[in-house]
Amino acid sequence: MCAQVDATTFLSFVCKACHQEIEAPVWMAKREAECPACGAMIEVPETSEPGTVWGANEAALQPTKAQVDAMKSRTIRIELSDQW
Ligand SMILES: [Zn+2]
Repeated sequence: MCAQVDATTFLSFVCKACHQEIEAPVWMAKREAECPACGAMIEVPETSEPGTVWGANEAALQPTKAQVDAMKSRTIRIELSDQW
């Protein structure tokens, strides 16, 4: 069973234009999207970038719940529009 990829899985990455941390649903991987912060066209990566809320933690430490909450609060989720 592939439980890793479903409607509730998200990718997180940083906008190259404004450095805002963004999260997008995994099915948007490799698609172009508009940065919700600055409006630049960005391509959603296939995997989350390290150091972002859903990315691998390079320090190999489990972040505390407070750290995860802080990361989520600084991350903007792409709003889905009718065009998808
Ligand atoms: Zn941006």
